[in-house]
Amino acid sequence: MPSYAIQLAQDLVRCPSVTPAEGGALDLMQDELCKLGFDCTRLPFGRGVARIDNLFARRGTSGPHFAFAGHIDVVPVGDFAKWQHDPFSGALHDGKLFGRGAADMKGGVAAFVAAVAEFIQHTPDLGSISLIITGDEEADADFGTVKMVEWMEVNKHVPDVCVVGEPTNPNQIGDVIKNGRRGSLSCHLQIDGTQGHVAYPHLADNPITRLLAMLEPVNGTELDGGNDYFDPSTANVTSIDTNNGAGNIIPSMVTAKFNIRFNTNHKSDDLIGWLEEHFEGVGGPWRATWRTSAQPFVTPVGAFTDLMQGAVEAVTGRKPVLSTSGGTSDARFITTICPVVEFGLVGKTMHQIDEHVYVADIDQLAKVYHEMLVQFFKDGF
Ligand SMILES: [Zn+2]
Repeated sequence: MPSYAIQLAQDLVRCPSVTPAEGGALDLMQDELCKLGFDCTRLPFGRGVARIDNLFARRGTSGPHFAFAGHIDVVPVGDFAKWQHDPFSGALHDGKLFGRGAADMKGGVAAFVAAVAEFIQHTPDLGSISLIITGDEEADADFGTVKMVEWMEVNKHVPDVCVVGEPTNPNQIGDVIKNGRRGSLSCHLQIDGTQGHVAYPHLADNPITRLLAMLEPVNGTELDGGNDYFDPSTANVTSIDTNNGAGNIIPSMVTAKFNIRFNTNHKSDDLIGWLEEHFEGVGGPWRATWRTSAQPFVTPVGAFTDLMQGAVEAVTGRKPVLSTSGGTSDARFITTICPVVEFGLVGKTMHQIDEHVYVADIDQLAKVYHEMLVQFFKDGF
């Protein structure tokens, strides 16, 4: 008979909660958390097709206050026929749980709940524990954690610390805690010129010539030397397009896209200012549209990271390294209200066909989360 954590993970996988659909996953979470004595508040944000449901659940009203955060939405399954097991069946096979979201991150969310259920059996009235569960992490994340954090501030539910259960481990539970993430800045650049015959270039103005000069500082380069917590910031061109199929025409216009993954040496406005000055220096007409999807953040090494590393080591026997690698996560919103780290399942198969996790890992992760609670509440942190 599978453990409570594994059964709950299976039940969550059975909810088809591809963003923005809730698929019954938040209802299920709310039922389980109410049984454990949590006050549950549903927090729908956005309108129409963009409407997203979220769940904030808190047990206790006093401090200290520990929060877990995660998402129950999942990415689409891709080619359904390629899956060995129905991605929404919660199939257990060879000691693994298969399904969309098993790793990212319904297994982690189930482990939160199992850890809390165990913890409150022995220590029912120690401060507060909250779960911040969003349905909007995998898409634009406009109506999920960012809005929940605002609501938590207004309604005085700000925790002392928060652990996000994203799958941070590359191979084994105990490899990596993420204590920061890089920022992400995208640019769509359009440059206008004058179309003409390639044999008469003096009668045309080739916008590609200027584009190449403009892209020079962001063409597969490192922007700095990194710092104590981060690797160097990197920039890459992702698209160049002229819509020009003819080999004897100088195009009238070219567009390009590039993305910068940047560390805490920069703010997105500084990068934009620096690059626009460079574009101006190259000259000619240009138009840039910028999107900052995340600012970088770091939770510095200290009492909280020590405590989290200690809890992981106590259960797994392995001291996890602190890392700031990888894409953006919802921790970028939570860092604005309290110290945050991320620790979860093994992420190898996330977003893939046949996404799966070892069920033993779900149980071990629940033990790690339990140990985090024990250590946090032990000395009235
Ligand atoms: Zn995730």
